[in-house]
Amino acid sequence: MGKRGKIGIVGGGVAGVTAALTAAGAGLETVLFERNASLIGGPPFCHLHAGGNLYREISDAQCVTLLRQSIEFARLYPFAVDKRPTVIAVPVDDGGRPEDLLSRLAMLRQHYARLVDEDSANAVLGAPDDYFTLFDEHRLAKAAKGAGNDRLPESPDGWMAPLARRLNKELVRFPLILVQEYGLNLFRLSAGAKLLLGRMSGVDLRLGTRVRRVRRQGKGFLVGTDRDEVYVDYLVNAAGFRTGEIDNMLGLTPRRMVEFKAAYTAWWKNRERYWPEVIFHGRRGTPKGMGQFTPYAGGYVQLHGMTREITLFDDGLVASTAHDAFPKLPDRLRERIIKGWSADEVARRTGRAIAHVARFLPDFNEAKVGGPPLFGAQQIPGDDPTLRVAEVAFDAPRYARCEIVKVSSVTDMARALRERFVQEGWIHEKGDNTKNHDLFEAFKEEEISREAEKIAGERGFPLAMSRRMVADTI
Ligand SMILES: Cc1cc2nc3c(=O)[nH]c(=O)nc-3n(C[C@H](O)[C@H](O)[C@H](O)COP(=O)(O)OP(=O)(O)OC[C@H]3O[C@@H](n4cnc5c(N)ncnc54)[C@H](O)[C@@H]3O)c2cc1C
Repeated sequence: MGKRGKIGIVGGGVAGVTAALTAAGAGLETVLFERNASLIGGPPFCHLHAGGNLYREISDAQCVTLLRQSIEFARLYPFAVDKRPTVIAVPVDDGGRPEDLLSRLAMLRQHYARLVDEDSANAVLGAPDDYFTLFDEHRLAKAAKGAGNDRLPESPDGWMAPLARRLNKELVRFPLILVQEYGLNLFRLSAGAKLLLGRMSGVDLRLGTRVRRVRRQGKGFLVGTDRDEVYVDYLVNAAGFRTGEIDNMLGLTPRRMVEFKAAYTAWWKNRERYWPEVIFHGRRGTPKGMGQFTPYAGGYVQLHGMTREITLFDDGLVASTAHDAFPKLPDRLRERIIKGWSADEVARRTGRAIAHVARFLPDFNEAKVGGPPLFGAQQIPGDDPTLRVAEVAFDAPRYARCEIVKVSSVTDMARALRERFVQEGWIHEKGDNTKNHDLFEAFKEEEISREAEKIAGERGFPLAMSRRMVADTI
């Protein structure tokens, strides 16, 4: 093996952090440039898409990939997973029927069983037979009589109880489906990433450092920041929705889209401590677009409503051109990313999000604004806005463009990067970076919790949102 390469990574979101863990974990000198003061501060995430059941429009193949990647993600970053299930409800005024979802769920259950057969450590979503559970009206009525949810539910019926007690049953079709798609806590992932990278040797973590220039030098690249220039042998572009800015510096013009979206923070005082996530299906972009109720600890709830008045925005989806790889969002949306939101707009959109979900859960009308919105712009490679699975492209020598759509795709991204480093002759075997890192072992739960709380506080979120509803289960 000749000289070992030095890896430069632009961007400290989930993709850049995972690239850094992969490179440094393989013993390569790694420098990570992040323009913000902390890691994983880009667009939010709250849902581990372990089967893609939120997306009726995507192919079975994408669902299977999301399932496998989500299992790998949960094994890679177990401390970020909130192990509570998701309930899927199809409203009566929606064009779909719950039965239409069942064959896909059965197919996913089979795939999950196969993954668990291959490696029992893949059983992070519980027993394959319990991957999903159906609730007809009778079973739901029985669940409603179950115990109050002060203690961690031990069965699908226990998880269903709070919803069964509050749902307006007239408005949904039966059966309801409870599926083992879990939550993700971004504050905990940010905290874990900081602790991990801080502890690894060979990582030069440059926070608050914006990459201004990139140009080829020899086989590698010269990366210019406000302070200096750094030579790297391999460049990983993980700049999120700004990936096109780096492409432009190198004269590359791949097609991509960028979408600005937002979720909202509500606080709801109700007697139940443990809630499942609840999805009310609906046609995206219409006033009846999907509603998503994502519970956190302490009564906080993250809300999405796939309408233009709530999560989506007029002109919020933009595309690159033949001469410009960086799709341009309207100034008013770009300004939100840079400067934040007005209090009026937060109140208005959060109020609409609460009302959107309260159509089905009337008591939820009592909820109040609980904190800032969770928002950002995300990249979608190519020209299909429904794409949910994307990882990495290598269309120039020693250059990787990491464009994920869902966070779980970083596991395949990391595997592909590792293979490239092997091909360069910088590391020996292919190894598998989706298995637990030795460093995780050294983690103390209190350390992550303390750091996650600090990050939530610094970003202006309620400290309770840095905690998982279901702690210490993975
Ligand atoms: C409202 C909303 C909800 C979502 N919910 C989910 C969900 O539930 N589950 C899920 O899996 N996904 C979800 N997503 C998608 C998810 O947020 C993204 O896939 C993911 O965060 C992208 O990570 P990334 O590392 O590619 O990019 P980012 O997180 O955007 O990271 C890129 C980083 O690069 C930095 N950067 C850019 N340019 C430079 C430069 N020149 N120099 C230095 N640094 C630079 C940025 O500051 C940023 O930190 C959601 C997205 C949105 C908008």
